[in-house]
Parts: sequence; C-alpha cells; structure tokens
Amino acid sequence: MPSRKFADGEVVMGRWPGSVLYYEVQVTSYDDVAHLYTVKYKDGTELALKESDIRSQSSFKHRKSQSSSSSPSRRSSSRSRSRSRSPGRPPRGRRRSASQSREQKDDKKKTIQETSLAIPVFILFKPSENNTKRYNGEPESTEKNDTSCIVLEQKLKPDLEVKRVLEQYSLRPRKDEKKKEEIFSEKKTFMAVKPIEKVPTKTKEMEFGGRIGTFMMIFFLPATVFYLLLMCKQDDPSLLNFPPLPALDSLWEWRVFGVYLLWFFLQAVFHLLPIGKVVEGLPLSNGRRLQYRINGFYAFLLTAAAVGALLYFQFELHYLYDHFMQFAASAAAFSLALSIYLYVRSLKAPEEELAPGGNSGYFIYDFFTGHELNPRIGSFDLKYFCELRPGLIGWVVINLAMLLAEMKIHNLSMPSLSMILVNSFQLLYVVDALWNEEAILTTMDIIHDGFGFMLAFGDLVWVPFVYSLQAFYLVGHPTTITWPVAAAITVLNCLGYYIFRSANSQKNNFRRNPADPKLANLKFIPTATGKGLLVTGWWGFVRHPNYLGDIIMALAWSLPCGFNHILPYFYVIYFICLLIHREARDEHQCKQKYGLAWERYCQRVPYRIFPYIY
Ligand code: NDP
Repeated sequence: MPSRKFADGEVVMGRWPGSVLYYEVQVTSYDDVAHLYTVKYKDGTELALKESDIRSQSSFKHRKSQSSSSSPSRRSSSRSRSRSRSPGRPPRGRRRSASQSREQKDDKKKTIQETSLAIPVFILFKPSENNTKRYNGEPESTEKNDTSCIVLEQKLKPDLEVKRVLEQYSLRPRKDEKKKEEIFSEKKTFMAVKPIEKVPTKTKEMEFGGRIGTFMMIFFLPATVFYLLLMCKQDDPSLLNFPPLPALDSLWEWRVFGVYLLWFFLQAVFHLLPIGKVVEGLPLSNGRRLQYRINGFYAFLLTAAAVGALLYFQFELHYLYDHFMQFAASAAAFSLALSIYLYVRSLKAPEEELAPGGNSGYFIYDFFTGHELNPRIGSFDLKYFCELRPGLIGWVVINLAMLLAEMKIHNLSMPSLSMILVNSFQLLYVVDALWNEEAILTTMDIIHDGFGFMLAFGDLVWVPFVYSLQAFYLVGHPTTITWPVAAAITVLNCLGYYIFRSANSQKNNFRRNPADPKLANLKFIPTATGKGLLVTGWWGFVRHPNYLGDIIMALAWSLPCGFNHILPYFYVIYFICLLIHREARDEHQCKQKYGLAWERYCQRVPYRIFPYIY
C-alpha cells in the first residue's frame, strides 16, 4: 500500500475539482483508508483530494519553467489548433492517455495557474464528466472560451461575470431538452456522482459547547422535559411557581415501561413489513448509497387502525394522560439505553462509517452527538426508524389521548375548539412528514449527524412529550377561543405549512433530480462538488425558507392556548432558538462544502430565516 506523499501542514498545489486549475492549498489531514487528503483552500473551502490531484509547489514551478522554454510559436499553434478544430474531429485528448492530456492542459493554462492562485473562482470551472454543465446539458460559453480570457474578465468585472453565469445556469428547458432530459433522468449522470465531501476524519471543531456543553446537556435535556411536564400539571403554571419535586419511585412503573416497549417494537414490526417502495439515500463519503424502505405512512395507517380497535374495545386511552410522567420516564430510560448501545457498537464501526461531526475522540462528545452515521442491524436503519416512527406517530397518539382526557375530565360531549385546532394542526404536520418521508433523506439529521444521545433522546422523548405540551396544557387549563380567532389562526397555520412544504419539496426535488421539468424556471449557482445552490424560488427568498414556515406553524400551535401563561409558548420560543442554532451549523457546513460558491449565494440571498430581519 503506498504511503502518503504529502505531510499535514504542507503547502502544495491542489487541483480544483472539475477544473484544470491548481491552487495553493494546505494539507490538513490524510485518510489512510480512502487514501484521500483533506486540503484547505485559501478561501476556507475544505475538500478531499486524491494524491493525483495534488502536486508539490516545486514540481509545479519546475514544469512552469520547462514550458516557458518551449517556443512561443509552438504554444500559439497549439492553441489555434484547438480553437479551429472541427466539431466532427475527435478531440485530441481522447487519443491520448489521461496523463498526457492533463500535461498538455497544464501547459496551456500555465498563465492562469500562476496568476490566479489566490482564491478559486467558481466561474472558472471547466465542467467535467460529473459537474454542473450537466445540469443544463448545453455547452456554456464559459466552457468554450479559453480559460485565460475568463480569468482576465473575472478580474476586471467580477460582478458582471457572476451575473452572466447565474443567468447561464438557468434550468429553463431549451429546444433540444427532450434528449437532455433523458440523460438527466438516468441516475448515472447526476445521482451516481461521487460527492467530494469531507472524508470523515477526526472532528476538530466541536459544537454544543464541546465536552462540557454536551456533558451538561445530557442532564439538562431530561430535566427540562420533566420540569415542563410538572409545570403543566400545576393549576398555576406560572414560570416562577416551581413545581414540587416528585418522589422518584412515583416516576417509574414497570407496566408503563412494558407498554412503551410494546409500542416501540410494534412500530419496528410495521417498519419491517415489505410494503412501500425502497429508495436510495444520497451518496455517502465513500460513494456508497444506502437503501431505505419508505413505509412511514402505512405504519401510520396501521397504527390508526390499532388505536381505533383499542377504542372500539373500550380501552381507556387516557391511561396515557394518567401515566404521562411515567411514560416520559420510560422513554427517557429507553433512549439512554439505546444511546449506550449505539456508542458501544460504534467503537467497532469502520472509520468511513463514522459521522463527520461525532468523531472527536472524546467519549462524552461522541456519545452525545452520535459517533456512527448510519447504525444498522442488517437492513434495519436505527436512526432512520427513530426519526419518524415511535416518537412522531407517538406524538399524535398522545395528542389524541389528551383530547379524550379533556372530554372526560371536563365532561364534554365535544372537545374544545382550541384542542381541535392543536390536534388538527399537529396531525397535519406529522402526516405530512410521513407522506413525504423520502425528503428526510436529504436532511442534516440523516446526512451529517451521527446517531447518539442527542437524536435518540430528541426523537423518542423530546418530540412526543414536549411537542404535545399544548394539548397537555389544554387538558388542565381550558381555553375558549372564538370562531373568527380560530379562523385567523388556521390561516396562519396554512401559510406556514405552505412555505414549509413547498420549500422542502423544491430543495428535495432539486437534489434528487436537478433536471426535473417542474424546476425549469429556477436558477442555481454551480459548485465544485457537482451540486447546485438554488438562488431563485423559495431558496432565493431566504436561506432557510423551510425554517420560516416551520416557525410560523409553531406559533399557530401555541396561539389556541390563549395568553394567560407563557408555558404553551415554550415550543415556539425553543424552536426559534433551535432553528437559529441549526441554521448557523448548516451555514458553517455549507461554507466548508461550497467555499466561494456559498459566499456568492449569501451575497445573493442575504437573509437567513426572516426576510429583512435575520
Ligand atoms: P434543510 O432541509 O434545510 O437542509 C439544509 C441543506 O440543504 C444544506 O445543508 C444543503 O445541503 C442544502 N441547501 C442549502 N441551501 C440550499 C440551496 N440554496 N439550494 C439547494 N440546497 C441547499 O435542513 P434540516 O435538516 O435542518 O431541516 C429539514 C426540515 O426539518 C426543515 O423543514 C426544518 O424546519 C425541519 N426541522 C424540524 C424540526 C422539529 O423539531 N420539528 C427540527 C429540525 C428541523 P446539501 O447542499 O448538502 O444538499
């Protein structure tokens, strides 16, 4: 096995992917398994490069002097040959070996390489077999032009040039679109592209306050859940009216734990049923793609049938309300046990299967953020299953239990209008998530975050027990709202839902098939990784339009609880904080992935979540 040629910290020349250009980069690490170097460009972009795409600075200079000694007439004739070549004539490069061809290109572009090493400029990309040119299918003028001219143009009028390229990268269908669409729709062209992602190496930048922060979160998150639930049970749930601490043994009941286990494994059985299509996730850093069965919506229908049968046979669903704290304790204990299992098994996972953000080498940090990216037992993907099934469907069942408890406790023949709104809005949210289950495969949780305590606790405890706080609150604190107020809140929820759904679908469709005719009117910025960044449509409105829609909906879920207490607004307040933090994390990752292209995107779309505010 060849040993590495370049050392960490060494300054070398790295080829910018998809181009023939070399830039000064610093080697930051080397992956022995994938044989890839992680290098940092001067603009901060970090990419993984093969050794063949890296050259030492000295060899680069040597080649330069060699080529400059060749006769100018020879060089110019070479260029003119290239320009005047008949389209019918096979390109020279095809008759040569790849290395010869690269040498020749290097000679031709030497002037550019020498003069533009400071920062990579995205318009200089020469689209190769897997990059952005394929998005549009047409040779672009940037492609045809001599690259040195483009460099000079870029230096003189960068903004005009960027604008021109953005316009060129419109997805608008052209006359010969049909043929191109056939090419695009083949998975091979776009989806099989091996992404130039950062190869999982040691996590250098720790999030969530590092080791101390994550250690504290392991206690703080469960404490918050129990504090909120205890507050909600009080007659006066004012923030300063601290609830008395319950006896520890009152929080635990084995029967409740048994019911919880039954629930969890029933959902697992539903997930394992051979119904629903199987799709592939996005390519992993090693180019592999995992398969996922999409049957969340079927699981929901089966659960609805099971709950219906229970009610038919007079099972008192408000058992859930009566033992709510014990159920929360059972879910917390289960998620802790699951997290320990996940961490232990991750110690044996191959390096390439570890999460890019959860591989710090520090136990607490990796335990919290998740060490392994896609832990699976056979084909059963634990993270994917927990993301949408036991917690999310459980949330709807809890809400229903609260609705029945409200009717029973207050002796109502109909649930209150507030309770109906809260139940309906949140039911829509859950059904939407399950109906569009495939979209989760392009989210941060699946593609970036490992599966550890953070997601296990979040999915199994936080989502079902904190997100149902409004319904829980309404049982103990009846709130009356008028029909016009209910109508206004409904309009608000629909607006939020519309933004949330269309933004998520737009991005998901674009990621899955950028040549989708439905997206023909959208424009995007190409990036070196082969993926584009949408700059029109929802993603040209703000940088996270889906978060905006989600926050509007969160507000609509709290409003039916009136204004007597802030407690039911906990969700919307927490959610704004969560999404602002999440947005910052995502920006950081995108900056690393896309470098200058991301900066261009930020210039073009200045607001992160709230237009004209943030
Ligand atoms: P997003 O779905 O917002 O995905 C972010 C990714 O989208 C980026 O990393 C980038 O990935 C890609 N992207 C960013 N900008 C563009 C662009 N201009 N064009 C194309 N692609 C772009 O991330 P989340 O996973 O955070 O959110 C998914 C949904 O889940 C959201 O609706 C959110 O509101 C919701 N959510 C709900 C939570 C809850 O508790 N209810 C918690 C967290 C999220 P790449 O380029 O690699 O594809």
